[in-house]
Amino acid sequence: LFSGPVTFLKSAPALKFLPDPDVPEIAFAGRSNVGKSSLLNALVGRKAIARTSVTPGRTQELNFFEVGEPLLFRLVDMPGYGFAKAPPKVVETWRRLVRDYLRGRVVLKRTLVLIDSRHGVKPVDAEMMEMLDQAAVGYRLVLTKADKIKASELEAVHAATLAEARKHSAAYPEVLVTSSEKGMGIDELRAAVLSDSLL
Ligand code: GDP
Repeated sequence: LFSGPVTFLKSAPALKFLPDPDVPEIAFAGRSNVGKSSLLNALVGRKAIARTSVTPGRTQELNFFEVGEPLLFRLVDMPGYGFAKAPPKVVETWRRLVRDYLRGRVVLKRTLVLIDSRHGVKPVDAEMMEMLDQAAVGYRLVLTKADKIKASELEAVHAATLAEARKHSAAYPEVLVTSSEKGMGIDELRAAVLSDSLL
């Protein structure tokens, strides 16, 4: 199904710029530098459909990509969080945009929360998960950059992430393990996104 066209639709810096809620949406969230752009690109089989935003100012937008012809669903690239030096105003703008999107978006079927395999679930990730719990938006945890650590370490972080997921009401009780670099877990992720889009 992903073999059809995937096109960038628009960036929405505020809720009034959201596209009409006429098809299912699957959103991607994670700390900045978690590997979100790389994973989105791997998922749709493109080199650079999603771009990395390196500066805090550029991150305050929801980016919408359309999948399928005819249109099947949208992928939503949420602004990265957890910038160490983000000014409080930037953090507040992020929080409001994300919270309002999560709470009000009836077509949002599932969110994927990306977790860096080297770091596991950080306090800012747990905060994101709590926002999702409160908005009653179901989410999957996805470990990224699995190629960066040893198999034994990966096993430990997988177990710890799974334990974390089970503490949260809206978290899916399985954790996907991926590496965009090695193409690991990408087929499984694609299958998960497709089935979530049909929820
Ligand atoms: P974003 O800020 O979350 O969109 O992160 P990017 O996709 O831009 O990735 C951040 C950095 O991590 C870049 O230098 C990527 O090359 C690197 N990266 C992303 N995914 C992987 C992966 O699966 N394996 C490895 N080794 N590096 C990765």
